Amino acid sequence: MPVIELQPVTNFKKPVSSMFSFEVIAKSTESRARAGVIQTSHGAVETPIFMPVGTLGTVKSVSPEELIEIGAQIILGNTYHLYLRPGCDIISRFEGLHRFMHWNKPILTDSGGFQVFSLAKLTKISDDGVTFQSHIDGSKHLLSPEKVMDIQACLGTDIMMCLDQCIRYPATREQCRAALKMTTHWARRCRQSWRKSPNGHNALFGIVQGGMFADLRRQSAEELTDIDFSGYAIGGLSVGEPIEVMLEMADFTLPKLPAVKPRYIMGVGTPENLIELVALGADMFDCVLPTRNARNGQMFTESGTINISNSRYKDDTDPPDAECRCYTCRNYSRAYLRHLYLARELLAYRLNTIHNIYFFINFIKRMRKAILADEFENFRKEFYRRLEK
Ligand SMILES: [Zn+2]
Repeated sequence: MPVIELQPVTNFKKPVSSMFSFEVIAKSTESRARAGVIQTSHGAVETPIFMPVGTLGTVKSVSPEELIEIGAQIILGNTYHLYLRPGCDIISRFEGLHRFMHWNKPILTDSGGFQVFSLAKLTKISDDGVTFQSHIDGSKHLLSPEKVMDIQACLGTDIMMCLDQCIRYPATREQCRAALKMTTHWARRCRQSWRKSPNGHNALFGIVQGGMFADLRRQSAEELTDIDFSGYAIGGLSVGEPIEVMLEMADFTLPKLPAVKPRYIMGVGTPENLIELVALGADMFDCVLPTRNARNGQMFTESGTINISNSRYKDDTDPPDAECRCYTCRNYSRAYLRHLYLARELLAYRLNTIHNIYFFINFIKRMRKAILADEFENFRKEFYRRLEK
């Protein structure tokens, strides 16, 4: 793998000015798929885009140089985790997450809401925010809309997310309506606080909630559009509902969001989910699937997933995916990767992760190319044809 030089941590310069813009450059004539470009002060992002998840300021097991080699243009950091550990005091000494983790391309951070509602012990939800106990040491914290903006400003991220109230699936209509009301209230306060903050020229995205109720999704999209954000995310999908329901909600909600702004589906999904959501007009995705599954020995290929621990690969001299051009597939066999994985060698996690992230990024890059050539529907048909083989 060629060595790619990032700026040494000691010379790392913060961009002088912050900025954000989005432009749609091509639309499919047969579906709602579209290609665009996001500009940030840390560089451009070509959409549709897949963002690898770097929960704790690292995409587990791979270095920033490897991510660049793989083709990553933007990564995601988790506000909840970074706030609790190592904390803003430390990260602010590096003027933000970019220099702290040695990554000088764009970063999107979530608001922490999802982790507070899934990982922490909740104590109270009110207009002021959400009070919770840390999953690490049990300490008590209040995450208010203003505080979420302050933490993300300290992280110096290019795209910030509003605090939203996440709900479990299934949830009643009343639970969804209450969470939606709170999400809009917090979004308004996030917007006010963001404008006044030193990070106020970077982007802030609102998050549509509303559970699996179409009219609540519409209400949420309308209320957030009125507040006016740099982009819009759809949260609360892929939380256990059937795939058809997830796609139905996305199909209904995406056109309700302004076409001139980027649209981001949070925490989704499989290659099949991504191709369908791109067809419905989504621009941005993040998911732990390629990284988490890599560490469990599952590798993605065009003809489906393979489990590298399977005994059928014990003397297999082929790469995981014969058509893949990633570092792992260019240099290693299934037999070697199986051996590393069964021996719990650390290199197994790195090589599997390199392949899986490359697969997701390259898959979406090829979708983009097909949209630019107005051949997206052919690409989609070909994808399913190969999967069924
Ligand atoms: Zn590969």
